[in-house]
Amino acid sequence: MTIMAIYLADKNLEPIAEKVLAGERLTREDGHALYASFDLPGIGTLANHVRERLHGSKTYYNINLHINPTNTCFMSCRFCAFGRKAFNEKSYILKPEEIVERARLRMPKGCSEIHLVGGLDPRLKIEYYCGYISALKAAFPEVHIKTLTPVEVVFIARMSKMTIGQVIERLADAGMGSMPGGGAEIFDSEIREQICEHKCDAEGWFETHRELHTRGFKSNCTMLYGHIEEPRHRIDHLLRLRDHQDLYGGFQCFIPLSFHPANTAFSHLPGPSGFLELQTIAISRLMLDNIPHIKAYWIMLGIKQAQVAQWLGANDIDGTVVHEEIYHDAGAKTPLGMTVADIQRTIRECGRTPVLRNTIYEELPEPAAVG
Ligand code: SF4
Repeated sequence: MTIMAIYLADKNLEPIAEKVLAGERLTREDGHALYASFDLPGIGTLANHVRERLHGSKTYYNINLHINPTNTCFMSCRFCAFGRKAFNEKSYILKPEEIVERARLRMPKGCSEIHLVGGLDPRLKIEYYCGYISALKAAFPEVHIKTLTPVEVVFIARMSKMTIGQVIERLADAGMGSMPGGGAEIFDSEIREQICEHKCDAEGWFETHRELHTRGFKSNCTMLYGHIEEPRHRIDHLLRLRDHQDLYGGFQCFIPLSFHPANTAFSHLPGPSGFLELQTIAISRLMLDNIPHIKAYWIMLGIKQAQVAQWLGANDIDGTVVHEEIYHDAGAKTPLGMTVADIQRTIRECGRTPVLRNTIYEELPEPAAVG
């Protein structure tokens, strides 16, 4: 494709388009120029060019199950509607056997992954986390256990008087297969101070991934946007992820998380516009040239936006999920989960090819009954 083949309403984007088409890395200034532009069709076309160069028409999904071991949380992040104080009547801590039972009851046919994240409770030590991981592995040996954000790992290390590396090794011995990338929020310290001042900082978040990646494990990475941050904070966030990936690899997928304000301390904020959601997907694809996959997480974006995003840089939609709590506590209007048939139809409706994957992006045969 040449630049002549791309119509750019915003002619200021032409130097960026030339770099994208030549496969050159974009700079911080390029990122600022992308966020300053309203030419979403132009930016989206460039992002789609990269997406199709990497993945053709494939949109990846998985058959997964979300379980939150506890919603009890010591922190008070202002964007969060999920965490409950220990005295709150709606707070809970699931015992390992209750987690296994919940998995047994809810697990969809063909499930390859259980995703578990939760709140930070100082009463829970490393033994609790290893307990539910090993119980799940004993009950479902073929299923990949993706669990604990760096925020949780840093907290467990502090509460259990261990190093981050020691925590990761204990979790891995119990059967942890990989980690999700939550808790990144916005790395900038001034923003972090205003939205989640007590939880681990950017350094702790990156140290956890460094310890993980140098041991050969994979993980994902995220950014929570659409609250009080500015475009420059988003670009800074993306560049820090890109720098880490240059050094350590290990990030498989970037997931931009669209802020949901309901029931949070930021409920007076409007939340991100539909335009910002799609712009952020496209800009992420363009800036993160070393992270293979960009996910349009249907739970947070909504199914319709996630479909449009498949033409603006995204190549993953997440999976069946089955029972999502964290963003529904914050007012998400999407279903709690989707069936495989729903996901396949969602992807086909937008002209993409559904490809079933496991957690580490190995392609799996499409389920015959719904193929
Ligand atoms: S975002 Fe996580 S750490 Fe912060 S209050 Fe919610 S559950 Fe707790």
